[in-house]
Amino acid sequence: MAIVLSYRNSQTPAQMNWIALPLEIGLYGVVLDFWFYWYHRVMHDFDFLWKYHRTHHLTKHPNALLTLYADEEQEFFDVVGIPLMTYFTLKLMGLPMGFYEWWICQMYVVFTELAGHSGIRVCATPPSTLTWLLRYFDAELSIEDHDLHHRSGWKKSHNYGKQTRLWDRIFGTCHDRIELVKENIDYENTATIFVGLPWVKTLDQRERSVPIIGGNTLLTLNNQIQRHGPSIVSESMKAPELYKYLPFGPYPTLEDFERWYNHRITSTDGNLLYAITDLQLRPGEIAGVVGFSMGLLLQHALGLPPHGMGMRRVQWKAHPDNAKSVRAAERLGFIYEGILRWNMVLPQGKDGNDINVNKERIGNGVPGRHSVMLSFCCDDWEGESRDKLDLAMKR
Ligand SMILES: [Zn+2]
Ligand SMILES: [Zn+2]
Repeated sequence: MAIVLSYRNSQTPAQMNWIALPLEIGLYGVVLDFWFYWYHRVMHDFDFLWKYHRTHHLTKHPNALLTLYADEEQEFFDVVGIPLMTYFTLKLMGLPMGFYEWWICQMYVVFTELAGHSGIRVCATPPSTLTWLLRYFDAELSIEDHDLHHRSGWKKSHNYGKQTRLWDRIFGTCHDRIELVKENIDYENTATIFVGLPWVKTLDQRERSVPIIGGNTLLTLNNQIQRHGPSIVSESMKAPELYKYLPFGPYPTLEDFERWYNHRITSTDGNLLYAITDLQLRPGEIAGVVGFSMGLLLQHALGLPPHGMGMRRVQWKAHPDNAKSVRAAERLGFIYEGILRWNMVLPQGKDGNDINVNKERIGNGVPGRHSVMLSFCCDDWEGESRDKLDLAMKR
């Protein structure tokens, strides 16, 4: 309809009426809202019309996706009827309302519709060019207004306007705001709206304590490297094969170990290195070492404060060739999640992926590796996996 009524083949977007456009944008919202106000209000007030609006009101606290949640009859009026009536009104007022101007006006209205249903609790008004004037008469719309409309339904509602509060003010159906009152708005302490996934820091500086669990000491080695470094180096050189699948080690000298420690552990805030000392095992129980050590770490990480850190997720990464490691994790109750491809860069000389990629990308043959991901999460801890772990620790 918009094309039939206003599209002119010979007119380019650059030829639209730029002078009239700001006024058209402002008036379009106000005029559309007049027609919308009455069409919306009669649907609330008359029994036989309510059925066309009922669906839209099934949501009491809307979100942007539910803006268009409505019966087809209502949809037809929202999308076709009301915009057409607004177009003719503006034409009658003598405004040019070419195709492109109409399109832009409509975008302003759609944006306000979506924002009005967004459910976001901030002080935000439509970007219309006449909002400043409406604000002067205390008739500008804010997100809260339509939210208040949705909290009430048939016959007893208010705030029928969806672009302004002008007609609600004039016809006496304006509802006082609850949250957005002057005293509640803090213009000085602004908030940053975070868009994206929150990264939970794994470990915190203040966790650098020395928890003692069940007679075995789980020791954080940070700041104690001078003391424990030499024994780590000498012990690790007795069994260098233990480092076969790890992206670091073994360490021939204390210097090698310290270089790795300074690069990998202390350079990033939040990394902790643990060791378990005084591990009480009966002779021949070496197979139980992994289970027992992991049990101590899991108790420390997933247990609730004050004894644990109350974390939500612990993850175990294994070299894809290291089937024993994956089996050990699963025996402890870790759940297999998948493979993280090209997860790590390995030092020269370590077994990585068969390198079949451009040498420029991988620095002339520096190997990389995939990681098998397994996790033990807080719900596992509170569920059956915990029994599995207890059993593994007793083995
Ligand atoms: Zn309604
Ligand atoms: Zn609504």
